[in-house]
Amino acid sequence: MTEAGAGRYAPSPSGDLHLGNLRTALLAWAFARSTGRRFLLRIEDLDRVRPGAAPKQLDDLAAIGVDWDGPVVYQSERLPIYRAAIERLTAAGLTYECYCTRKEIQQAATAPHGPMGSYPGTCRTLTSAAHARRRAEGRPAALRLRTAVTEFDIDDDLHGRYRGPVDDVVLRRADGIPAYNLAVVVDDAAQGIDQVVRGDDLLPSTPRQAYLATLLGLSIPRYAHVPLVLNQEGRRLAKRDGAVTLTDRIELGETPDDVIATLATSLGYSATSSSELLAQFNARQLPREPWVLDVNRLLQRDRCP
Ligand code: GLU
Repeated sequence: MTEAGAGRYAPSPSGDLHLGNLRTALLAWAFARSTGRRFLLRIEDLDRVRPGAAPKQLDDLAAIGVDWDGPVVYQSERLPIYRAAIERLTAAGLTYECYCTRKEIQQAATAPHGPMGSYPGTCRTLTSAAHARRRAEGRPAALRLRTAVTEFDIDDDLHGRYRGPVDDVVLRRADGIPAYNLAVVVDDAAQGIDQVVRGDDLLPSTPRQAYLATLLGLSIPRYAHVPLVLNQEGRRLAKRDGAVTLTDRIELGETPDDVIATLATSLGYSATSSSELLAQFNARQLPREPWVLDVNRLLQRDRCP
């Protein structure tokens, strides 16, 4: 099957990718390649940047056979594009300044029908005098979306129709940097991405992103939110869980092909290269449950008979 369009992987360069990240990247790549799409990489470096992390992530992706088309896009080089989108929303009367601190938001009651921690709307109805007073106090202001809905539906290849909350999401942080939820929507559209494959921890944020796309007149991509990798305690895999990066595995004597084999096995395939995995890939038969990883049982000598 051949379709136009593109898929993508969009890591935050906060450190080395771990096996969970690599597995999601391999899946996003296989979804794109198996449908004739281009595959793009975007480094989401608007915050949490560790120097040297981005080139290392690219090397690790290449080492497990994830290849990409065209130049890598860096969000930090695209600030004017996000600002233009924010200005369009502001010109349409769809934004307002918010002076609340994180603590104030936590202390306020959650928005009616909103998810835990969603913005209660404190600054939405401030008078212009109240706005001026807070500005004069020197409170830094974030810019929020004035949403007209409380929920929005999306379609997901793995989860089907999914309805989730939409709140007055931050578009520009109080430090002036565009927020993730705005940047991701603007970039996916600008890069011609019509297939978003990512970890299912982002599923609850997707309705607000799709809603934001409609306000900006952008088309909504197809989504596939794939199960995460969990540690033995059932929590999302993290670097402190042990030897979970490609570098860690290589230091233990494994090769990148061994790591591909581990990831392939976790998906029900038998492959030691990304192309072997692609030949077997079937999006409809993917595991729907998280992969619970016992890092200590991954060693080559344990796996080989
Ligand atoms: N940069 C995000 C992360 O590393 C992923 C965002 C996305 O795929 O939309 O968690």
